Amino acid sequence: MEKRTDINTLGEFGLIEHLTKDVTVKNPNTLHGIGDDAAVIDAGKDALLISTDLLVEGIHFDLMYTPLKHLGYKAVVVNVSDIYAMNAVAEQITISLAISNRFSVEALEELYEGIALACKMYNVDLIGGDTTSSPKGLTISVTATGRAKKEDIVYRSGAKPGDIICITGDLGAAYLGLQLLEREKQVYLAAPGVQPDLEQKKYLVERQLKPEAAKESIAYFKKKKIQPTAMIDISDGLASEVFHICKSSKVGAFIEEAKIPIHPEAEEMALKFSLDPTMCALNGGEDYELLFTIDEKDLQEIRYMPSVYIIGEIVDAKDGIKLHTSGGNIHDLKAQGWKHFEDKA
Ligand code: ADP
Ligand code: MG
Repeated sequence: MEKRTDINTLGEFGLIEHLTKDVTVKNPNTLHGIGDDAAVIDAGKDALLISTDLLVEGIHFDLMYTPLKHLGYKAVVVNVSDIYAMNAVAEQITISLAISNRFSVEALEELYEGIALACKMYNVDLIGGDTTSSPKGLTISVTATGRAKKEDIVYRSGAKPGDIICITGDLGAAYLGLQLLEREKQVYLAAPGVQPDLEQKKYLVERQLKPEAAKESIAYFKKKKIQPTAMIDISDGLASEVFHICKSSKVGAFIEEAKIPIHPEAEEMALKFSLDPTMCALNGGEDYELLFTIDEKDLQEIRYMPSVYIIGEIVDAKDGIKLHTSGGNIHDLKAQGWKHFEDKA
């Protein structure tokens, strides 16, 4: 019998690694291919950055509680975020859609209102895409391009022992927003007359449905001439992103649980759901803040950044990736991340 390996045995990152392990780069202007938030292409004086992301109905969004305008906005933001994660400025996007006939022209106009709003907010141009039919549901693929001076680009691989680990905003709220929306959906399905009251939980719901990319942080680095040593955007939860930086940079990390920023509303909601707020920050995802490391010499300037949290330090690889808990224990950080394949099997 022919060999058949279930994709769940590898997980998302293992699968990408497996499929791309023999990929080589032939063109000298491909400066950096697979393995970072965006690919880097030599474009003369500057470098061109390219990143792509796919959003699938039923996996990444549920239209029962996701307004199409927000979805359009988010689809752009999550791509722009990957360009920022390279310390670059986003400039263009393309949008590709697979749509079933369940969607009306008016519905798609709403989607495009959100796309246009994000293009305006982040100063990017919509320059193309593709449109096709789908047997069921909606799929959105966005590709973003950006630009940076070659020497300004920040990879996941530049962190070194002694560097300070920072993040640009609080974590876990988007995940808790999702839990809340999912719960309200179940309540609604059980008793369709009952309208959910989400007014009190605006922050969490917004973090989930209408995230923002860390534009100001990139502008601050530029203004202050600070170059992070490594950077990644937090799409899969802090733990997973710390692992990516450590793996690429061949270092370890020491994270202080007490320093991980968690919004009071997120903390409260986590406790209501009997979840550990720290676990939500570590493994929740979709925060779209930046995780970056800086040389110790830049610490003073970084302290003045409008939104920054210092959460730990890069250590030698042999010292591992550790979490110093608020209770005073030190244990190995575990990355769970999203498990789309398992969740939706
Ligand atoms: P991010 O979370 O920043 O969008 P991913 O985890 O999706 O990054 O991807 C990690 C790296 O693997 C990126 O360089 C991405 O371009 C690459 N990659 C992801 N999926 C594929 C694929 N199917 N084929 C080739 N490269 C891929
Ligand atoms: Mg990313």
